Amino acid sequence: MTKKNVLVKESGLEMAINMAVSNSSIFTTAAQKPPSVPGGYITISRKKLLQNLEINGGTRINSWVDSMRASSPTHHKASHSLADDHSSWMLQHPSALDMFEQITKASKGKQIVMFLDYDGTLSPIVEDPDRAFMSDAMRATVRKLARYFPTAIVSGRCRDKVYSFVRLAELYYAGSHGMDIKGPSKGSNYAKSAQSVLCQPASEFLPMIDEVYQILLEKTKSTPGAKVENNKFCLSVHFRCVEEKRWSELAQQVRSVLKEYPKLRLTQGRKVLEIRPTIKWDKGKALEFLLESLGYANCADVFPVYIGDDRTDEDAFKVLRDRGQGFGILVSKIPKETNAAYSLQEPSEVMDFLRRLVEWKRLSLRRQFRMLRRAVLDDGLLTKLDKAEPIITVQDAEMTCA
Ligand SMILES: [Mg+2]
Repeated sequence: MTKKNVLVKESGLEMAINMAVSNSSIFTTAAQKPPSVPGGYITISRKKLLQNLEINGGTRINSWVDSMRASSPTHHKASHSLADDHSSWMLQHPSALDMFEQITKASKGKQIVMFLDYDGTLSPIVEDPDRAFMSDAMRATVRKLARYFPTAIVSGRCRDKVYSFVRLAELYYAGSHGMDIKGPSKGSNYAKSAQSVLCQPASEFLPMIDEVYQILLEKTKSTPGAKVENNKFCLSVHFRCVEEKRWSELAQQVRSVLKEYPKLRLTQGRKVLEIRPTIKWDKGKALEFLLESLGYANCADVFPVYIGDDRTDEDAFKVLRDRGQGFGILVSKIPKETNAAYSLQEPSEVMDFLRRLVEWKRLSLRRQFRMLRRAVLDDGLLTKLDKAEPIITVQDAEMTCA
């Protein structure tokens, strides 16, 4: 058994990982060719990997485990060659902080709408998913962000759960990968009134999800560290705390349940297997639904920005790329093939970016307000405005200038 750098390619996704490789012939063909990327990488498509696993007598479970490794790379195993790859990747997906001026310039005259994933974007990935808290500083930043821009949290988590972490009533929330969307309950500058549930396209699956949740709880309890989370319209099986040697066992348990439920499908995130209905609904659809709800369905002057860190966010990045509006920002320290235009390394950089956006907007509104005031003065019409000045806020100015 040796360690190899392997570049796993999947439709729309590519990831460099360092994994244990046995003497199996799975990698023989690729290994005999010169490395396709610096650092002695073996490049193999995931499809081919799966085919080879079948040919070589491997079971489907092996492919699941390989996919689990691919979606949950171990950062501390990164080598110098990965660092080299990172540099070239950064040329294609530059830091949103470095490109801040260009980004704000591109948004000129358009309404920025913010979409934020939660885990790994606003909060760090931690061992216990129930303790993935966001910092007070991040919460304060998101609160300010929502004063200046329509803002939505889009998460794989149950909407109530993600709300319990964020605790900001003025935001839109799209839980369960966008299958449970609700508008701000109060305090939003952008929702005309407090809104009830906006969209639950998978409500017919609720009884099935509850049933599978109970079965998975029972099935996986023999695997130490496995944690099943009921996200209302989808389920998560977290393996952040499961020893890697037991991933195969966990995959087998999940598969044995899923094969009885063809209307459910499996996707993967970072250290998590996700089970959801087979309906064509994802974070990208949720983004489109929210834009429509906000009145920007066929609007040329909207500029959506989506920040997220894992595979499920790619659906939203792709929607933005296809629409040619706004852009996605991938939060990642390692190179991944992505539809996002820019990158940020970790939640602390996300906070820096959001703070700069707030400050940029605040200053530009102040400029607009001064110009408006000067225009009023020049016209000799300063009467009520002069008296009202002490109580005019930036938000008031924003409404005036809109
Ligand atoms: Mg995430």
